[in-house]
Amino acid sequence: MSSSTLPNPPSLQPKISTHQSKTLFLLQLCKSTNEATQVHAQLFKSGQILQTFHASKMAEFYAISNPGNIAYAEKIINHIREPNTFILNTVIRGHLERENPEKAMDLYHKMLPYGPKPDNYTFTFLLKACTQLSIAYFGEQLHSNIVKFGLCSDPFIRSKLIHLYANSGRVLDARKVFDGTHHSELDIVSWNSLLEGYAICGEGELAQRLFDEMPNRDVVSWNTMIALHVEKCEFKEALRLFRLMLDDRERPSSITLVSILSAVSHLGAIDQGRWVHAYIEKHGYKLDSSLGSSLINMYSKCGNVDLANAVFEGMTQKGVDTWNSMISGLAMNGHGPKALRLFENLGTSGVKPNAISFACVLNACSHGGLVEEGCKYFAMMSQEYGIEPKRAHYGCMVDLFGRAGMLEKANETIRSMPTEPDAPMLKALIAASRIHGDLVLGENAGLQLIELAPYDSAGYVLLSNIYAMGNNWNRVHWVRKKMRGKGIKKTPGCSSIEIDGVVHEFVVGDTKHLKKREIYKMLDEMSKRLRSEGYKPDTKEVLLDIEEEEAKEASLGHHSEKLAIAFGFISTRPGTTIRIVKNLRVCADCHTALKHLSKLYGRDITVRDLNRFHHFIAGSCSCLDYW
Ligand code: ZN
Ligand code: ZN
Repeated sequence: MSSSTLPNPPSLQPKISTHQSKTLFLLQLCKSTNEATQVHAQLFKSGQILQTFHASKMAEFYAISNPGNIAYAEKIINHIREPNTFILNTVIRGHLERENPEKAMDLYHKMLPYGPKPDNYTFTFLLKACTQLSIAYFGEQLHSNIVKFGLCSDPFIRSKLIHLYANSGRVLDARKVFDGTHHSELDIVSWNSLLEGYAICGEGELAQRLFDEMPNRDVVSWNTMIALHVEKCEFKEALRLFRLMLDDRERPSSITLVSILSAVSHLGAIDQGRWVHAYIEKHGYKLDSSLGSSLINMYSKCGNVDLANAVFEGMTQKGVDTWNSMISGLAMNGHGPKALRLFENLGTSGVKPNAISFACVLNACSHGGLVEEGCKYFAMMSQEYGIEPKRAHYGCMVDLFGRAGMLEKANETIRSMPTEPDAPMLKALIAASRIHGDLVLGENAGLQLIELAPYDSAGYVLLSNIYAMGNNWNRVHWVRKKMRGKGIKKTPGCSSIEIDGVVHEFVVGDTKHLKKREIYKMLDEMSKRLRSEGYKPDTKEVLLDIEEEEAKEASLGHHSEKLAIAFGFISTRPGTTIRIVKNLRVCADCHTALKHLSKLYGRDITVRDLNRFHHFIAGSCSCLDYW
């Protein structure tokens, strides 16, 4: 906390005697606490000590000067017969500047019964201390003291109160103070505090209303709204707001750009990502670890590892986050061996890998089917780096063994963990049992999953797929009934594609797009060409869909990724790479169809699904049918 944000308490302006002015002059000359102590000692000799004025000046010197001696300042305060408010405020401020809000609160409580009367400065400091401690309870106590001492109308104090309440999630209390203040007396900090309070509580509509009402906005206001939309997965809205911000001539901060890059990543909107990158370069933003990592993530998640790598190579200062982003980018795009090499480079770079680095490299091993290497890194983590594996690391190992068909090892890993398996781990196990045909293991994991996450549709879908594989229709019906009984609907598949900087979204059987006629014509042509290639739709995985009333129309041919691809085919020049982002896992049928399509139409097709990337090139996929 910098001292510049604290208001300066008013100086005492007592009548100064010759002796006092001499002391004051001497104190101002002091360059160190040692020198000040000498002045102090002189005062002792002259019998002047404990006069409030001298004591105030001494306390101020010790409390505020750098490095000072805050303990000594507190000692002085305890030795004065009648300490005044100025001394109290000075020492409280000294504690705050040393980032010691507890001591500031302690001193206040100690002094309250017999000490000087607190003033508006005292409370301003104390409310700041409460915010640093994020303790709304003390804030409430202070609030009643503020009322008691009749300082409730001070706009500065009200601003701090709003901030404290909003920051600790008590947005209703914040609103009360806000509404109790005349709007002309509210500074932008108060507006922003309340806005942040709404954002913390996820109150999107109230935040939007307040944002619209704001007489002025600054970068903090914009950042709060953009981050809120990103948090709520409203990525297109976040981008719209960003454009408005630029139209409003508000210069984005690094924080804005990090948020926007995250929205771009989720949408896979690489053109807009490139634009943000150009903006960063043009306006000379410093590519620190956070902004650099965001760019690397964005390019990786848009399926362009080369551009991610160019950013990585161009960064002069690489923190561990930077390395982690690049390793994870390589892993998710199916470049397992390269990710491992980069991890080795990290080891020799002088930057120490952390728990996340190991999760990234283990993930690379599991996506690349590199069992031996995975085991090596898993052991290295605790043995060489003293990092205890967490659930995420065990999860990678389960996935690694599962994909490699070592189902017993996968199970053993789960049994050896100090904690219970989580949903992603069970999903990995089910996926592995499906690929390797171990239906008993799949069933057990599926049953465990729906118990662990009873309101997540994914568990029911996976379990039903396992039963369908074994032609166990009774159980398929049982799962459907159970799901319906809980009122759970399958998350609708949604795929997006960016054409000329505009993101187009499609759901299963979508008929809302302006070009739906052309899209469905293209789909017909695609399915004719697929059939002539000898492709047969694989219907096993859609059993759960077909009996759902509203999904009846949504046959396999109209899965969202196929719609997005058809739109991509008619909207881009032949040979252009098609990039799709999907919110769920790609189904087996679409996966097969996409492989054929990439060959039939001579197009590279990149699909980022819930778990990973699929780069379909000339009839095969980078995941080697392992996803
Ligand atoms: Zn599909
Ligand atoms: Zn694939």
